[in-house]
Order: sequence, then structure tokens, then C-alpha cells
Amino acid sequence: MTGPRTEGARAFLATGPKGFWIGGAWRTAPATFATHDPATGAELAQVGRAGAPEADAAVAAAGAALASPGWADMLPAARAALLWRIADLIEAEADALAEIEVLDQGKTWATARHAEIPGAIGQFRYYAGWATKITGETIRPSIGHAPPGRHAVAHTLREPIGVVAAIVPWNSPLLMAAMKLAPALAAGCTLVLKPAEETPLSALMLADILDRAGLPPGVVNVLTGYGEEVGAALAAHPGVAKLTFTGSTETGRALVGAARGNLKKLTLELGGKSPAVVMADADLDLTVPGVARGVFANAGQVCVAGSRIYAHRSVADQLAEALAAHARGLRLGHGLADGTDLGPLVGPGHRDRVAAYVDEGRAAGAEVLSGGPSDLGPAFFAPAVLTGVRGDMRLMREEIFGPVATVTPFDDAEEAVALANDTDYGLAASVWTESLSTAHRMSAALRAGTVWVNAHSYFSPELPKGGRGLSGWGVENGAQGLENYLETKTVCIVV
Ligand code: ADP
Repeated sequence: MTGPRTEGARAFLATGPKGFWIGGAWRTAPATFATHDPATGAELAQVGRAGAPEADAAVAAAGAALASPGWADMLPAARAALLWRIADLIEAEADALAEIEVLDQGKTWATARHAEIPGAIGQFRYYAGWATKITGETIRPSIGHAPPGRHAVAHTLREPIGVVAAIVPWNSPLLMAAMKLAPALAAGCTLVLKPAEETPLSALMLADILDRAGLPPGVVNVLTGYGEEVGAALAAHPGVAKLTFTGSTETGRALVGAARGNLKKLTLELGGKSPAVVMADADLDLTVPGVARGVFANAGQVCVAGSRIYAHRSVADQLAEALAAHARGLRLGHGLADGTDLGPLVGPGHRDRVAAYVDEGRAAGAEVLSGGPSDLGPAFFAPAVLTGVRGDMRLMREEIFGPVATVTPFDDAEEAVALANDTDYGLAASVWTESLSTAHRMSAALRAGTVWVNAHSYFSPELPKGGRGLSGWGVENGAQGLENYLETKTVCIVV
């Protein structure tokens, strides 16, 4: 069974072409494009193709909502309750949302239903708590020239940064949207959300949920469309104060340029080329499935994927063989089919791109122990494990965003750190060891925004997530994630 099983998903898909959610109402789209199930190639729906006029309308609606009494004057506790209500409604529709996510993106039911939708719910519940805890400071300034008998006192106000454009990628659509919406709403901002053109559907379902939760009109607006069209229009828009983006480093660079006009504040969660370092004392029973999950989960379409595996020479061959055996054992299929471990990639074009990296590696002398294009369909790619790679190969330097792992031996911890840090990225890393001191020493030495020990890809809304180098600017999640959406105003009073 690979079609929608829930009434919610079926009803959503049956409603015909999707429009834009602007100012609390659905607007008919003058032009549409198709979104497909990558596993079957079947068209799922027609969605609106927004451009500059829709960007203008959505930014205007968000600007009006920012100043509207219904939102600007909402008490913190009411905002917290609203965020919690959004979480409850997502939870109530978790099956339908998960199905839409599987159909639109290709991920497995388990990933959508048991990791990403709960992750989105967790974002709204976590930041619901913050809505009532946004406080400033009181400061006694050292100003010596107040008139006789008077002195200065000061305090700070934390204000919402303004209208936010949230541009999100296709790998985990609803979760990525929630990671931006939840803190921005807790801070009192208003938003225009643009999902990726490959996966626009869950954001449209979310618009209905936000409406039912009681979010005032215009606080969140949803525009579907292409990056170079509506995405670029939002990125350059003078009415947008803040751009929060998750996606490729290349697009991140373009956004830096687009944001220049009004000096938008930017949060950029970009690509990665994350290492997993397996020390000689690692517990291989834990490490093999853990490292496999770190690189193959969501068919490798995860920004933190641990694609460069470095293993101590004493265990490297054993690890590579075991990982390849694990990879061969993963069952490819439709994300909704029972027993599927790995779905398709997001589309045939991306599959060909991933395959090209592996072909190029093989031609340059790497050994491919497992994996490659699958005959299940043009978007399917069986998880690949390669050995005999060199650090200068393109597949070792660029983000592949597919289920491709390389295993490279090292001789000591110093060499492991040098190899792991030999990248322009710096998003995440993992270390696999049973030694507490090795865990501490390695996590201090690795250049990455997150280091896991004996795990890879562990996320929680409390845990700050950011990148070094080409992996981006700023931090999401946790208390710091809220800061992205707040500005400080200092009020100094001579009393
Ligand atoms: P990928 O290469 O993995 O598809 P992208 O960075 O291209 O990742 O896409 C992530 C998001 O950025 C998507 O929502 C996409 O539409 C958007 N996007 C792509 N190009 C631009 C652009 N020039 N301006 C604004 N948004 C863009």
C-alpha cells in the first residue's frame, strides 16, 4: 500500500490545486507546478508558483500583522498557549502529516512519523515555554554628567526583530519549518514561510493547522514556488528584517548577496561533510549500526550525515566490511511499504548526481564495497560504502547528500583529528570510543558545531545547532535559537 492511508492526507490531496496562504486566507495561484512522489513518479498535486507579486503581498500581510493589536499586544502566556495548541493540533494530525511527508519527499514512514513529526511538535512545545521567559536587564550606567541631584538608570527591552522570511529545504520539510516558526513566534515575529519546490505540501497543511490554532491573520504566510523566483524575491525584499535559511552552501552564498540591500540579519544552516571517527576501543556492536544510521538515515539526505568515516587501522577493515554488510541488508522501497529501511532520493536528478560522485570515485581508484543505482526506480540508490579513497577526491570534499559512506584508516588520534578537520565545512562530527578521556579530548579537538560521542544525528530542541566555516552562520535551537528573532533596545532614563 503506497497511497495515502489516512483520511486527512487523502482529503488534502483531493482538494485540487493549492493556493497561497496570505493574510489568513487562501489566495488562488495564477500559475502552478506539479509535485511528485519520488518513489513512483506519480503527480501528487499542483501547487502555486509564487513570484515577486506574491512575495510583496505576503510581506505586507506579515508587516501588518506585526503591528496588529491581536499579535503585538498578545500576552506572553497567551502566546505560549497558542504555541502549545499548534503542537497539539500537529500531534492530532501526525499520521496525515507523516504520510504527506513520505509521499512528497520519499522518506520512510518511521522517519516521518516517529522522528520528524514528533521533532516538529517538540519545537513548538519547547519554544512555548520560552514565550513567557523573554526578559531584559536593568543596568546602572556610569554616566558622570547627569544634572546635579539626578542620575541615570537603564533597562533593556527584547523586541521581535520584525518580519522573518523562512526558506527551508526538502530533506525534512515540516521539521525544518517548525525549527524556524516556533522560536520566531515565541519572540513575537511574523513570518513568510517558503518550503522547497520539491516538497511544498506539509507547509500548506501546516497553514490550516496554524489557522485552527487561532494564530491571527498574517502572522504566518506560506508561499510555494521556486528558489530563484519567490525565494530570491523574499531574500531581497526590503520589508523582510530577518532571513532564516536552511539549505545548500551555494544558495547560502547567494542569500548573503541578496540580503545586502537592507542589511537583513541572517541565520544560515548550510551544508556539511561530517566525519565519524571510530577509535580502536570502540564497541563495534554499537558503532556499526550507529555509524550506518548516521550516514544512511533519510537516504543520506541529512545535513549532518556522517559520510567521512575514519577508523583506527586495527578495526578499519572489519568496520568497512560490517558497514557494507549492514548497507546490503537495508531494504529499499516505498516509504509507506512495510519493512522499508530506505526510501528513494528526492528525485531522479538528485539520484544521478549522487551516482556521479560514486562513479567518479571508482574511476579514481576507490573500491565500492556496496551500493549504487537501484532498478526499483529512477530515484532509488542503494547505500554505498567505499574504501581506498583519497582526501582530495571530490566525494571527500563536497556534500553528496545521499547514502554514500567512505571508510579511511588512521594510525593515531592526532592523525584522526587532522583527517576529520580537513574540510571547509564544520557542521557535526562523531567519535566512537569507550574511553572517557578520549571522548573529551577528541570532542575538544574536532572543529564542528556539534560533536556526538557514541551517537550521530541526535537532535533535541534544547541542543544548540550551528556550523563552522562553510556550514553557516548562527545557531538554532535552545536559548540561542530564540536570540535569532530578538533585538535589544536600551532605554536610558535620567531620573
Ligand atoms: P538543494 O540544493 O539541496 O535543493 P537549496 O539550497 O537549493 O538546496 O534549496 C533550499 C531552499 O532554498 C529551497 O526552499 C529553495 O527553493 C531555496 N532557494 C534556492 N535558491 C534560492 C535563491 N536563489 N534565493 C532564495 N531561495 C532559494
